[in-house]
Amino acid sequence: MVEAKVIDGKTVAAGLRSRVADVAAQLRSEMNVTAGLATVLVGNDPASRVYVRAKAGACSAAGLGSFEIRFPADISEATLVTEIEKLNADDRVDGVLVQLPLPPHIDSYRIIGAIDPAKDVDGFHPINVGRLWSGASGLVPCTPQGCLILLRTVHDDLSGAGAVVLGRSNLVGKPMAALLLAADCTVTLLHSKSRDMAAMCRRADILVAAVGRPKMVKADWIKPGATVIDVGISPLPLPDGGSRVVGDVDFASVCTVAGAITPVPGGVGPMTIACLLRNTLIAACRRRGIPDPLL
Ligand code: NAP
Repeated sequence: MVEAKVIDGKTVAAGLRSRVADVAAQLRSEMNVTAGLATVLVGNDPASRVYVRAKAGACSAAGLGSFEIRFPADISEATLVTEIEKLNADDRVDGVLVQLPLPPHIDSYRIIGAIDPAKDVDGFHPINVGRLWSGASGLVPCTPQGCLILLRTVHDDLSGAGAVVLGRSNLVGKPMAALLLAADCTVTLLHSKSRDMAAMCRRADILVAAVGRPKMVKADWIKPGATVIDVGISPLPLPDGGSRVVGDVDFASVCTVAGAITPVPGGVGPMTIACLLRNTLIAACRRRGIPDPLL
C-alpha cells in the first residue's frame, strides 16, 4: 500500500522562526532596529487571548519587540480606530495585528481598513488584498503563505499544476487561490454551493482544504500522488467526554492515495505564527528601505 510523505510543518516552521531570529539579530546589531509587532485584543474571548499570547511569545522568542494592547469589549469603533492610528504613527511598531473576531458592534472591515497597509502583517487590508491579486508586492496573509511554503518543500515548480482550493474565506481560501495563481497553477476555488466537489478534487495535483468540516475529504476525492494541504482545525468529541483536533481531511485513508500530505496537528498550524514573524520582519525592512530579507 502507498503511504504519502508526511509534510512536517513543525520542522519547517522551526526553521523559518530560526531564520527570522537570525535576521532580527542582524537588524539589531547592524542597524539598531528592533522589529516590533503590536497585537490588539478587544474583549476577553478565551481562545483569542490564547492566540494573542502565543503570537507575543513567539515574537519574544525570535527577538522581535512585542506590544500587547488590550481594550474592553465595549470600546467604541471610533475609539478603536483612534488607537490603531496611534500604532500606525508609532515608529517602534512595524506590524499591527487586530485579533479577530471583534465584538458585533464593531465593523471589522473599518478596523482593518484603519491599519497602515505597510504595517498590516495579517495581509487583510484591501490594499494588500489588491496587491496580492494584481501581482504587486504587499503583505500576504499568514496561513496561505505558510501553505505555499509547505508546498514548496515538495514541489520545486508549481507551474501548470492543477490546484483545487476548498473554501473561499477572505482569510484562507481566496488568498490561497491568489498565491497559487501567482505560482502559475491552474486554480479552481470550491465552496458550499459548488457541485460535484469529489470529482473536481480528483482532478487536483494540489488540494488545499480550508472548510472547517472534520474529515470531509475522503480517499476517493484524491488523485493518486496528489499533494494535500489540510488547513482545517476542528475539535472531534471523544467517547470519554474530551476532544481532539482533526483537520478537513480524513488523514488515515487519504494517506494511502496522496503523494504528500500535511498532518493535523503539526502541519499548517505552526506555519501561521512563523509567517506572522516573517511578515513583521519584512514590514520592518520595507518601512526603512532595506531590501527584503531572504526568508
Ligand atoms: P470560514 O470563514 O468558515 O470559511 C469556510 C469556507 O468553507 C467557506 O468558503 C464555505 O463556503 C466553505 N465550506 C463550508 N462548508 C463546506 C462544504 N460542506 N463544502 C464546501 N465548502 C464548504 O473558515 P476559514 O476561516 O477559512 O477556516 C477554515 C478552516 O481552517 C477552519 O477549520 C479554521 O479553524 C482553519 N484555520 C486554520 C488555520 C491554521 O493556522 N491552521 C488558520 C485559519 C483557519 P461558503 O463561502 O459558500 O460559505
